[in-house]
Amino acid sequence: MSLHPQYARPRSAAQAVELLRGLGSGAVVIAGGQELMPHINYGRLMPSVLVDISALPDLMGIQDVDGVLSIGALTVLRELKKNSLVKTSLPLLSRAASLVGGGWQVHNRGTLGGNIVAMHPLYDIIPPLLVLDAEVEILSAGEVRRAPLAAVISETSLGLGQRALITRIFLRATPPDFGWAYEKLKITEGAYGSANAAAVVAMHGGKVRAARLVIGAVSEQPIDGGAAVESLLGRPFDDHIAQEFEAACAALVTQPMNDQQGNSRWRRAMAGVIARRAISVAVSRASAQQI
Ligand SMILES: Cc1cc2nc3c(=O)[nH]c(=O)nc-3n(C[C@H](O)[C@H](O)[C@H](O)COP(=O)(O)OP(=O)(O)OC[C@H]3O[C@@H](n4cnc5c(N)ncnc54)[C@H](O)[C@@H]3O)c2cc1C
Repeated sequence: MSLHPQYARPRSAAQAVELLRGLGSGAVVIAGGQELMPHINYGRLMPSVLVDISALPDLMGIQDVDGVLSIGALTVLRELKKNSLVKTSLPLLSRAASLVGGGWQVHNRGTLGGNIVAMHPLYDIIPPLLVLDAEVEILSAGEVRRAPLAAVISETSLGLGQRALITRIFLRATPPDFGWAYEKLKITEGAYGSANAAAVVAMHGGKVRAARLVIGAVSEQPIDGGAAVESLLGRPFDDHIAQEFEAACAALVTQPMNDQQGNSRWRRAMAGVIARRAISVAVSRASAQQI
């Protein structure tokens, strides 16, 4: 532990993980610094070495390879919002990035990889990535592995940012007949979200054919809405079903958060409201594709 961290700037991802291995505990990866620097400035974290990965070419760029987008972990939020490939193939992710708070600095410097590794329950990017079945490439000394994001966020021993790097995120383009939605509720303009929901829906003959939903910012972990979504299949999303669905989604929140963004009772109720809104918007978009 040191009050004055040393600074290292590796030239490749492979060199970065070798460096991390050599430095051992106390060394921390820094990308855009939007998460890390406030922790350091407030004295909550005292790394011995900052390993700056912000110029590593292997972690940059967005490519479409046969309908799968490969997004470098260093892609900043502004790029996720504006990039034409992301807007066309993954509009849900682009929309979620556009609703991230914190202003220009966070959008211009905050990275996709840093947002994932922060795993903050109130943040916006993990719920859409889960709905889109994102896979994450992880590099540690001597090993590259690719794993579903859902598995990565429940695994605590990966050492992301200390021994291992997220290099790229892989996402299959959303099929054109799917509607999508990202909805977010905040108590004031500058606040973090009190509830959010990411959804994709496909319709057939006015009825729900397929759907995915993840609810965020209401409990420590994102909530998979699969159990509630199941009841929608083969049915139209009318007002009656929407009401039932809202109650079913609220019931999924067994351990609601109780913080500055709202008390637990309200958060559970808002989980239902935001989930209904997201599915409703996604149904409208999917229905419009059918015409
Ligand atoms: C004022 C403010 C408001 C914000 N509001 C929102 C919001 O509304 N919604 C939202 O979603 N987010 C919000 N954020 C969070 C912001 O999106 C994240 O802080 C940012 O994306 C983190 O990226 P970074 O590159 O700056 O991470 P850094 O601070 O550089 O790193 C964050 C963590 O990730 C690790 N890390 C970084 N990159 C990698 C990698 N490739 N592989 C392994 N480990 C890595 C670091 O070691 C560190 O532990 C806000 C932040 C601020 C400061």
